[in-house]
Amino acid sequence: MTTRRRAEELDQADLLADFREQFVITDPGLLYLDGNSLGRLPKRTIEAVETALHGEWGDRLVRAWPETWIEQPRRIGADLAGLIGAQPDEVLLADQTSINLYKLAVAALRARAPRRTVLTDSGNFPSDSYVLSGAAADAGGSIRIVNTDPVAPSSDAVGALLDDEVALVSMSHVNYKSGALHDMAAVTAAARSAGALSLWDLSHSVGAVPIDLNGAGVDLAVGCTYKYLNGGPGAPAFLFVARHLQEELEQPIHGWWGHADMFAFEGDYHPAPGIDRFAVGTIPVLSMVGAREGIALTAEAGIEAIRTKSMAITSFMTDLFDELPAEFGFIFGSPRDPARRGSHVSLRHPDGYQIAQALIRDDVVPDFRAPDVIRLGAAPLYTRFVDVWDAFARLRTIMESGSYRTFPKARARVT
Ligand SMILES: *Cc1c(COP(=O)(O)O)cnc(C)c1O
Repeated sequence: MTTRRRAEELDQADLLADFREQFVITDPGLLYLDGNSLGRLPKRTIEAVETALHGEWGDRLVRAWPETWIEQPRRIGADLAGLIGAQPDEVLLADQTSINLYKLAVAALRARAPRRTVLTDSGNFPSDSYVLSGAAADAGGSIRIVNTDPVAPSSDAVGALLDDEVALVSMSHVNYKSGALHDMAAVTAAARSAGALSLWDLSHSVGAVPIDLNGAGVDLAVGCTYKYLNGGPGAPAFLFVARHLQEELEQPIHGWWGHADMFAFEGDYHPAPGIDRFAVGTIPVLSMVGAREGIALTAEAGIEAIRTKSMAITSFMTDLFDELPAEFGFIFGSPRDPARRGSHVSLRHPDGYQIAQALIRDDVVPDFRAPDVIRLGAAPLYTRFVDVWDAFARLRTIMESGSYRTFPKARARVT
């Protein structure tokens, strides 16, 4: 049996342990294992938002636009580029992930007309599938869904469904339920050789897994900043467009922020050169600050160190899972090999919703994804090995006592 002492030793040896102090932790007894859904609040963000509020909005008023705000989408995008293997002028902070996905999917479909099929997989985040099917419908086409094994997604299965109708291949890098990683380079190469563009959603990998968009030859990508990047609730998302495609693509929402000269107030739309043309309207300045600080903190820790800890801590989860009695009835819902998953593991159980509620009652915050997945996320900048050990101890007590059965089987609106 793995002891709590072992967890303490792993925490002592953890090179990122000090980063936990950089976050607001109001309740030290709370075992927060949902950083894959909403990251914690970095202390530096409080100060930075205060500066933006008082020093910029309060004091500089509209003068703050040319002084700092207008540059934010590109400047923060350049900071993020280093974490995802992109050039500084290939990344822009803008809008929300779903909206960026739509803009880039429509742009890709237009660029590859008369092709009008979007290939995605059964493991994609439902919102992404809705957006992609809407974008394909706009082009008179539809989506084609590859049935991938949620725990072992195969690039060959994707390749087998490619043909000359496919304009775009779009998948999530990490499966939001199982945590399985797609082989980005292999899928991207298959898409390219079939004449299709590639569009990756990095929401569940950015800030947790090293990503090499340029190295893999990726065309397009999107992702959010409020999960492992700790940008804050509703923080703006990002988009990536490979440089060689920026002038070729036309995004569908013609807003003044994407105009070649936004303050010329011309009658006609002329897209800006480069990455700027993928912007639409006024940015949420205060939320941008949260994204900026979260990205800077992640860059300071270094993505390789983050990945090393992430693999160690999800492996620790696997060890503890293996020690649970089989009669509890859990199924391990993630790849066994840490190199093949992101930074969460999922435990599947027919009573998963009730068990998740019982965990929350006992100050363990996982999340639940229908129909039977309890996700345990490890955010390497602040999750400790003892948090994971304690969470499994509480889970064990819940299962032994059967106390979870007192919770309703129906889902609440936000899980
Ligand atoms: C979290 C997440 C999103 C979120 O999209 P929003 O537009 O921010 O609501 C989208 N796609 C994936 C794969 C995600 O994990």
